[in-house]
Amino acid sequence: MRWDRPVKATTNMTVFDRQEDKSIRQWCKWSWDPITGCEHDCRYCHGIEKARKLYSRTREEGYSSFKPHLWPDRFDAPHNTPIPESNVSGNRNVFLGTMGDMFGDWVEKEHIEAVLDIVRDTPQWNYILQTKNPRRYLEFEFPLNCWVGVKVDKQKEVKPALECFSRIEASVRFLSCDPLLEWLLFPTLECFDWIMIGPRPKTKSKPVFYPPKIWISSLVKQARTSGCKVFVKHLKDPGYKEYPGRDGF
Ligand code: SF4
Repeated sequence: MRWDRPVKATTNMTVFDRQEDKSIRQWCKWSWDPITGCEHDCRYCHGIEKARKLYSRTREEGYSSFKPHLWPDRFDAPHNTPIPESNVSGNRNVFLGTMGDMFGDWVEKEHIEAVLDIVRDTPQWNYILQTKNPRRYLEFEFPLNCWVGVKVDKQKEVKPALECFSRIEASVRFLSCDPLLEWLLFPTLECFDWIMIGPRPKTKSKPVFYPPKIWISSLVKQARTSGCKVFVKHLKDPGYKEYPGRDGF
């Protein structure tokens, strides 16, 4: 199978899924969900909506709620997905965990270790991890083919994120303010290589929310002071389309 042909997403996913978010697809072409579910209950969560839709279509028990669920039948996806020739445009980048928080306190350590072992064994791929629970990262060592990120959308989450990331070692450490829900102030951003900023997506009950320009420019200024690269979703300005990794991605 060629990598550039559409990959059909099935419930018994044995290959990576295509990245659905158009803006993320600019730098990361794939997604992989060996562990799903989340208890953070963010109001803007698309993972919950996706799980509901998949459950109504498939009646697959793992989607019946947004409770943590391990999918061992997906463990072979990194081996089964054809490898692109290069990582240009993020062809080898894989968003690991688009339907939940794999580093939530509710996920068993051995399940996370099992997934990280696969990451270690498949250096041909570059994995993008993200959590709202950065303390959990401190229990693990990350292979070089990982970008390790924290999602911060409110000021009260700034301090715990900085405390953890000053102790985390990874080839790329990034901050995701996607969505940016408040004007955020960081005493420093030096523990991050890259910052992603985005709007709150449309949900059933709320329209899309684009953060005010002044919130974005303030965060970009803080990023520049600390030498971080910046990516802002849905903005056409090329100055905000920077990436942290090799091959420009
Ligand atoms: S952390 Fe992510 S998966 Fe969990 S509820 Fe929030 S948006 Fe959804």
